[in-house]
Amino acid sequence: MVWDDIAATIRAETGTAFFVERKISIGGGCINAAYRIDGCGQRYFVKLNDAAKAAMFEAEAASLSEIAQTQTLRVPRPVCQGMNGGQAWLVLEYIEFNKSNAGSMGELGAGLARMHEATAPHFGWHRDNTIGATPQINTQNGDWITFWRDHRLGYQLRLAAANGHDGQLQKSGERLLADMNALFASHKPQPSLLHGDLWGGNIGFASDGKPLVFDPAVYYGDREADLAMTELFGGFSADFYAAYRECTPIDAGYSVRKYLYNLYHILNHLNLFGGGYRGQAESMMERLLAELK
Ligand code: ADP
Repeated sequence: MVWDDIAATIRAETGTAFFVERKISIGGGCINAAYRIDGCGQRYFVKLNDAAKAAMFEAEAASLSEIAQTQTLRVPRPVCQGMNGGQAWLVLEYIEFNKSNAGSMGELGAGLARMHEATAPHFGWHRDNTIGATPQINTQNGDWITFWRDHRLGYQLRLAAANGHDGQLQKSGERLLADMNALFASHKPQPSLLHGDLWGGNIGFASDGKPLVFDPAVYYGDREADLAMTELFGGFSADFYAAYRECTPIDAGYSVRKYLYNLYHILNHLNLFGGGYRGQAESMMERLLAELK
């Protein structure tokens, strides 16, 4: 029984008695089945998927630990992960989510700016992870433009070709890959620790209104890539951006580069969900190519 196995891994990891007395399904996720489990006065958050997804859960736990180490933004603490009987699981600290308060978004902006100060010798990360359900390649590289071209846009474009999205999308994509270095004339990014999947569905607020981030796809990259994603599906509040900018100014040219960064996520959506995103990807490419003329 998978729940007995999960309880056993929790007991082994925490050294406390634990049995699942109650489990409640939680909606809202995109990829996995999620549950709250209660027992012996404890409460945990559990994600479940096929055993083939065990590496994805290992990478998620490692991503959460990487952010936790910076002591900047709060993340759910990873407890343990495991696999048995065709299923894989990830157990995290359970967070009781609440509403934001007047200071929450400012705190999130300032916390993110501090998190972005965590740096590494190279762009990428020591392991690959996933963006949504798609592999995200993090092979380390000292050159950001090469990294973004090969492991981000190029990777998704090749996947799109394999999914039958050829023609103009590929032609414009090729031109963009060849010429995009012109967008970096006055911008020399440092490898900053990124959340990697920072949309509104992956932030929350604890009972005291303090912000949390979860479901990350971390790597070290241009901090503008995280900021761009906050703008992709509706945008965060003005307090968030004001607090971020107060900690760290944003370079001129971000207003164009954000399309380059969000194109990665739109191509990923095209690859995951199909045709509707193709038009959006093509118009983002046209917008960028117009800057390069
Ligand atoms: P998926 O990997 O399937 O996208 P998420 O990580 O987005 O799943 O989690 C699904 C939902 O579960 C979230 O929208 C959030 O409401 C809730 N959730 C995520 N992490 C926790 C946690 N540690 N404690 C309590 N609820 C959580």
